Amino acid sequence: MPDLHQENKVFLISAIRDIFVGFLDVLYPRHCFACDKSLHEEKNTYICESCLEIIETAEAKRCSKCGLKLGSGITSSSKGCHECKNNKFRFEKCFFVSDNTEPVKTLIHQFKYKKHTCLATPLGYLLTNLLYQKTICEIDFVVPVPLHWKKKQERGFNQSELMAKKICDELSIPISINNLHRAKNTLSQTQLSRVQRQKNVKGAFRVKNPEKFYQKNILLVDDVLTTGMTASECAKSLENAGAGKIFLIALARSKM
Ligand SMILES: [Zn+2]
Ligand SMILES: [Zn+2]
Repeated sequence: MPDLHQENKVFLISAIRDIFVGFLDVLYPRHCFACDKSLHEEKNTYICESCLEIIETAEAKRCSKCGLKLGSGITSSSKGCHECKNNKFRFEKCFFVSDNTEPVKTLIHQFKYKKHTCLATPLGYLLTNLLYQKTICEIDFVVPVPLHWKKKQERGFNQSELMAKKICDELSIPISINNLHRAKNTLSQTQLSRVQRQKNVKGAFRVKNPEKFYQKNILLVDDVLTTGMTASECAKSLENAGAGKIFLIALARSKM
């Protein structure tokens, strides 16, 4: 028999919430974080339907190892493309929602640098949705690419960790936050040459308790991949800890 008292309570809470959201809408009209279009009429709270459509329909053929977009002279075999053959990427496969182009580029900027952490929900959902479309083995742990504690303190959060939590909530997979950690506070990779990047991240990551990851399949979560050296260095530490298969998922693949 339905609990009428409980049903009334749920109805009341949702009515109050609707009034509250409506009120907030008047005070602070919602706009799409990517294109600034008003979200007054839309159900999605942070990204408009048109931007979501661009993201969801921009599926590209990519190298299964490093995610580089194929075509224009770039071809790939099961061992990877020319890029990752040279770099010996340590992950089994990697998946990207998009290239680092609009609207994803702006969304990442708003999330990471403008600190709109509310974007972790729709961006985490985009990652989960992508994962649903891929066939991979069972994942034992979701591991966000760690920030050095100083960097995390400065920013106030680790963007990959917030998105990883959303994936874990959706798929009921445990998250591991502190076992893989960044021991070296590396320079930002953006201004460095390829050789400098490699040197910069070498030995930057450590696994505190290797037994926890022994023979476990791991999904690494990152925001943007450029050369892939940071993520590959993470994977190397996990591999040294005896991990099983290592996959990577990220929002965007940048051109090098
Ligand atoms: Zn938009
Ligand atoms: Zn490749």
